[in-house]
Amino acid sequence: MKGVPIPAAERHGTKYGRDWHRRRKEPDCAACYATRVRKPRSLCGTEPGVKRHRRRGETVCRPCQDAKNAANRARYARPKTDGATP
Ligand SMILES: [Zn+2]
Ligand SMILES: [Zn+2]
Repeated sequence: MKGVPIPAAERHGTKYGRDWHRRRKEPDCAACYATRVRKPRSLCGTEPGVKRHRRRGETVCRPCQDAKNAANRARYARPKTDGATP
């Protein structure tokens, strides 16, 4: 629907609202901000990505496999001492 102006109150919580805030150089309101923090579509390359593949019965992809390996390695490499207390 082109040409129909959207009332200011109604654009919040839409991509138009964010646009509007940006043009006014002000931070997004809560409704508009909520549209911004969408869940990332792809978790690949992270440990949760591995879990997601498993849950879906998929083969764990390469970036996820690498992330898991790296995390495991970091875990093993971590010294058993607690923090930097001398
Ligand atoms: Zn807004
Ligand atoms: Zn993956």
